[in-house]
Amino acid sequence: MKKISLLGATGSIGRQTIDILLANPNDFQLVAFSSGKNIEKTREIITQLSPEIVSVQDEGDALQLSKEFPNVHFTFGTKGLVEVATHPQSTVLVNAVLGSVGLESTLAAIRMSKTIAIANKETLVTAGHLVMAEAKKYGSAILPVDSEHSALYQSMNGENPKSIERLILTASGGSFRDKTRAELEGVTVKDALNHPNWSMGAKITIDSATMMNKGLEVIEAHVLFDMPYDKIDVLLHRESIIHSLVEYHDTSVIAQLGTPDMRVPIQYALTYPDRLPLVGGQRLNLAQIGKLHFQEVDFDRFRALKLAYDAGRTGGTMLTAMNAANEAAVALFLQEKITFLQIEECIERVMDAHDNILLPDLQTILHVDSETRKTVQNMVK
Ligand code: NDP
Ligand code: MG
Repeated sequence: MKKISLLGATGSIGRQTIDILLANPNDFQLVAFSSGKNIEKTREIITQLSPEIVSVQDEGDALQLSKEFPNVHFTFGTKGLVEVATHPQSTVLVNAVLGSVGLESTLAAIRMSKTIAIANKETLVTAGHLVMAEAKKYGSAILPVDSEHSALYQSMNGENPKSIERLILTASGGSFRDKTRAELEGVTVKDALNHPNWSMGAKITIDSATMMNKGLEVIEAHVLFDMPYDKIDVLLHRESIIHSLVEYHDTSVIAQLGTPDMRVPIQYALTYPDRLPLVGGQRLNLAQIGKLHFQEVDFDRFRALKLAYDAGRTGGTMLTAMNAANEAAVALFLQEKITFLQIEECIERVMDAHDNILLPDLQTILHVDSETRKTVQNMVK
């Protein structure tokens, strides 16, 4: 029986994690979780899985819930995320919170040598060097939940990392993959939220439409697998059946395939190195699919991807600035305060003006993150 702490339980990845825990009650026990503002869903999860600690975003909600569930310990805010992540009994932290707010709690869990199943890619982008150094120091395993990185991880099982030639991340292209840059003028939030292959949270769906999601994933792959950027490629693959590929020195290419279902990589991170049957999983029928398509990416068309490679190669606080600018700009787009193309513009302006600091410590990262968010807010004013 694995005891689990879960950050972001009410989100898209969080809910699918809960589904896996409910389907396998003899394998997993949820001891602590966090949510944000969705209190209705929070109540439902408490009733289903009886955790000991629950953290919400606001103090008022924590007080209200304490009255309703006197046997549960409620907490809130960033310190609440840390409390959930460091529950003394959990051995695995599933981090499915959205954005760089997940950083401090991840580091705290690593310092307790917990296994980290990480969906929260912004944490790896903004502070990858700190996370991986602490993980090494405390012997904490970092297991990817992102489907591409899970595919890469699975395609490296038993292989010598030295024989890897390159990593190839597949990209569906998101909701606007068939539009030219000119056609992106005037697209709406509703259009952008309509992803062809995956049903995900709003922020990552917009990131998929700008391709910043793939950019964050290139950085995530660099951090997790210690590969130089020149050896990480992106390949457009509209069907999202091949989740990513690893090419070896001898020209062999190993990939992981499957119908698009995030429960597969979530469950794999929870059961690694074993596998469990996936309740309600849909088997891949390649004969029925018939054809798979591949295409080179155009960095002029997907400018955000180019920006992410640039930030990755620069390193340091440039990564934090780029990530925070993107988080702030996407939030503004979702509130209909800026246009779709202005997301890239905000990121580019922040990066052009950024004074880079290499190998930043945690305080520096948190400072750059909050200052960048203010800068983006001011651009709109
Ligand atoms: P969602 O927006 O669906 O969920 C985010 C979760 O985080 C919710 O539980 C939300 O709470 C909580 N949350 C948001 N902001 C805060 C905050 N400031 N403080 C505390 N809690 C907060 O996101 P996704 O599940 O789509 O994505 C989560 C992470 O996983 C992201 O990093 C994303 O890039 C990554 N990921 C997601 C995939 C997907 O299929 N969705 C695929 C691969 C990676 P509430 O809703 O209660 O307000
Ligand atoms: Mg992904």
